[in-house]
Amino acid sequence: MNWLTALFVWLVRQLTFLANAIFGRSLERKTRTFRSVRVEDLPDQPDSFVVYIAGEGPNVWAAGLVCPCGCKEIIELNLMTQVRPRWRVTEHKNGTVSLEPSVWRRSGCRSHFILRDGLIHWCR
Ligand SMILES: [Zn+2]
Repeated sequence: MNWLTALFVWLVRQLTFLANAIFGRSLERKTRTFRSVRVEDLPDQPDSFVVYIAGEGPNVWAAGLVCPCGCKEIIELNLMTQVRPRWRVTEHKNGTVSLEPSVWRRSGCRSHFILRDGLIHWCR
């Protein structure tokens, strides 16, 4: 390995470190808030901190998210106006998401929370 290659390898390593420091941290900050992702169908293995919205444009029919309590259960919410109960989902410009009204699981962990601007507010 000549000095030029060595310099190049060193440079790449520095850049990788820098990129991780910058993007790694902002990614970490992002994952603590819920963001919305449009899908055709709700995924079988959804990521945490993502509200999956199934639908096209203004026509949405379902939202899915992993329960924020940590029980890893998948919560599916109806967004269709003709079916009750129904929730309204708002996709904000900064990528975060709000759900109305609150989500109250009748089974399992029985979590009751409000998702507003990507943040969970627990109802006790
Ligand atoms: Zn739960």
